[in-house]
Amino acid sequence: MDNGRVPLLLCDLDDTLVDRGRIFDTWAAEFAQMHGLNGDMAWLAALDGRGITPREDFWAAVKGRLGLAQPVDDLVAAWRVDFPTLYRCEQSVLDQLSEARARGWSVGVVTNGDAEVQASKLAAAGLVAAVDSICISGAEGVRKPDPRIFALAAERAGAPLRPGWMIGDNPEADIAGARGVGLGTVWLSRGRTWPVADFEPDHQAADPAAAIRCVLEAEMITT
Ligand SMILES: [Mg+2]
Repeated sequence: MDNGRVPLLLCDLDDTLVDRGRIFDTWAAEFAQMHGLNGDMAWLAALDGRGITPREDFWAAVKGRLGLAQPVDDLVAAWRVDFPTLYRCEQSVLDQLSEARARGWSVGVVTNGDAEVQASKLAAAGLVAAVDSICISGAEGVRKPDPRIFALAAERAGAPLRPGWMIGDNPEADIAGARGVGLGTVWLSRGRTWPVADFEPDHQAADPAAAIRCVLEAEMITT
């Protein structure tokens, strides 16, 4: 890259590099079948809240509704092991990450969540070797949108924070957080309409491969 500068690309994990929603639906369909729910999975997705609901609350509610015998702690422990194994990353996304690195970008994952669970997801999805650095809030003790986790991610990626880009699906944690430290932003819409009136991402993309391409093209235009 020009002037020896290493450009920085940070990416969220859940519902950004990996389609967590689809993985959850796969899990829920199997769970529903196992428990004779006749395909009634909408309440499971509602309880899940795109993964935001604490797992203890999620499993306490599921246990209550279905009258499950296992203690909530055991249900949570099994989930922490089983759910991450379902994680897969589309080849088109792995290809775009590879293209970014081939062009001299330093690529990092910045994800909020439990250290072990997020690490298991990254491993199952084949993302550990596909990026230069990983920052998991549960391991760092600081969460997006806190500016400190973006600074830490840049430091670990061996690149300055600015100019750099962040791709994510969460308006507050990913987009507002990244804007706060001066990163360019691409919001992964996944079919949704941008929900915030006060600010907007620099770009929107429908899928992660398109989001990465968008960053690479934006960089080419501005340099
Ligand atoms: Mg996300």
